[in-house]
Amino acid sequence: MNAADSRYLRIEVPEEHVEERIADFREVLHSYSREEAMLEAQRCLQCALPFCVEACPITQDCRGYIGLVAQGQFDEAARLTLRENPLASTLCKVCYHYCEDACIMKGRGVPIAIRHLKRAALEFGNSGLEYVPSAPRHQRVAIVGAGPSGIMAAWELCLRGYAVTIFERQPAIGGQAGAIPHYRMPNHELLIDLQRFRNFDLTFVNGRTAGVDLTPESLLAEGYRAVFVAIGASRASYPGIPGEQLDGVLPALDFLYDVNQSRPVTLGRHVVVVGGGDVAIDSVRTARRLSPGSSVTMAYRRTRGESPAGEEEIRETEPEGIEFRWLVGPVRILGKDHVEGIVLQKMELTQPDASGRRSVRPLEGQTETIECDTVIMAVGEKADLTGFSDALGLKIGTKGWPEGSRPGYRTSLDGVFAAGGRSVVHAMAAGTKAAEAIDAYLCEKDGRRAGHRPDPYGEGESPPPFPEGYSGPVWKP
Ligand SMILES: Cc1cc2nc3c(=O)[nH]c(=O)nc-3n(C[C@H](O)[C@H](O)[C@H](O)COP(=O)(O)OP(=O)(O)OC[C@H]3O[C@@H](n4cnc5c(N)ncnc54)[C@H](O)[C@@H]3O)c2cc1C
Ligand code: SF4
Ligand code: SF4
Repeated sequence: MNAADSRYLRIEVPEEHVEERIADFREVLHSYSREEAMLEAQRCLQCALPFCVEACPITQDCRGYIGLVAQGQFDEAARLTLRENPLASTLCKVCYHYCEDACIMKGRGVPIAIRHLKRAALEFGNSGLEYVPSAPRHQRVAIVGAGPSGIMAAWELCLRGYAVTIFERQPAIGGQAGAIPHYRMPNHELLIDLQRFRNFDLTFVNGRTAGVDLTPESLLAEGYRAVFVAIGASRASYPGIPGEQLDGVLPALDFLYDVNQSRPVTLGRHVVVVGGGDVAIDSVRTARRLSPGSSVTMAYRRTRGESPAGEEEIRETEPEGIEFRWLVGPVRILGKDHVEGIVLQKMELTQPDASGRRSVRPLEGQTETIECDTVIMAVGEKADLTGFSDALGLKIGTKGWPEGSRPGYRTSLDGVFAAGGRSVVHAMAAGTKAAEAIDAYLCEKDGRRAGHRPDPYGEGESPPPFPEGYSGPVWKP
């Protein structure tokens, strides 16, 4: 094989053997060695116009850190990564790597392992850095919700010298990221990331629920100059079918969250997970690990190719002893008090519509029943807006989290902003935009000029990561 050919072969990411990994919650993907990381990074073309950077919601300069890893400069790579990505320890394990989908090498079938090289940069480089806040502004900002949007907004605001308090109703921080199973994120990576925030004027207040213990209006009245509502979509959606209130029907988000918090969870011997996205995939894999020898089935109304779950996650799951049932939708859960089975309607794909999208329709009279004692519902989440005032005029997007409907995620109430995101990195991007809008709003009020994000290491202003002439990111929230 010549050097040109080797450029098209990805250095395989080491993976835990399937028999061992389903026995517990050990991490599935392992690190590259230093040498493997350097070899993989050396495949990168260092494109003049890097589509990878453009596709990243936070415009992480991945081309930059890959170039440094290629030369074995791991400390510099870690420093560059953390300069614009304060949750890099988390993202190097769980990001859906939108950058890799855009990598020019994907055209040859083998994108650079950009996320895994971020992990190498942090593991082999010095990632124990500290962020440095600007001089204090003596202005307080409140954030409701300690998920990735809220935490990213806090980072942006603290760097600018604001004092930030995050109110969170759960006992732990992290939001939905706290439900990501340990076989993907084993070491409380979010807490590792937060270690670097230690110099900030940032306070977490757990166990306080907006709408019950406080409201955006009450926080403004207490003297917070602005409020960012970052409450995500944390209430389970249900399909609205008979039997969904029976014992043995569990909402996926609560199930995964409880497992991560080591709370007791009772699963039966025959588990059916309804849904086809990443939360459904995490639910079947978690059920597999919790209940060895049980049958675990995933039932989804569309096909594998149309599943919203990532290809990487499906590929990793297939050998783990899960039965996948495509083109079936739930119509009824059977049982008197406790689940005894689920009736599934068989579906078929329609012809593509004008946009090329194929829909599904039921195959009349064709149902099947699966005997089971546990049904995990993973058909989506929505925001819980109990106690929030209509005056905010919150807009609920298709994925369920509330957003301000004015530019910069402003709500209809002066000084209140709201946003969230469909993945950790999208939520972070939304947190950045909201924080920039909050800073602009407060600067305008005080007759100050809003500027760029200050350098996180206290070394002057951060230059924008994009090369000259670039129009901006292509991602959609
Ligand atoms: C099981 C699972 C696996 C996932 N895996 C991945 C993955 O691998 N990669 C990826 O990129 N994304 C993943 N996601 C999606 C990702 O976690 C979310 O997109 C992201 O966390 C959204 O961030 P957020 O800050 O907008 O909202 P959230 O993370 O939902 O955070 C909102 C916070 O607000 C709190 N809150 C809600 N209401 C109130 C209230 N009234 N008062 C006070 N606090 C409140 C909530 O408790 C929560 O802590 C996964 C999600 C789940 C559920
Ligand atoms: S944060 Fe995610 S999308 Fe951005 S460069 Fe890293 S892996 Fe890629
Ligand atoms: S698009 Fe791919 S090859 Fe080009 S700089 Fe980014 S990672 Fe490297």
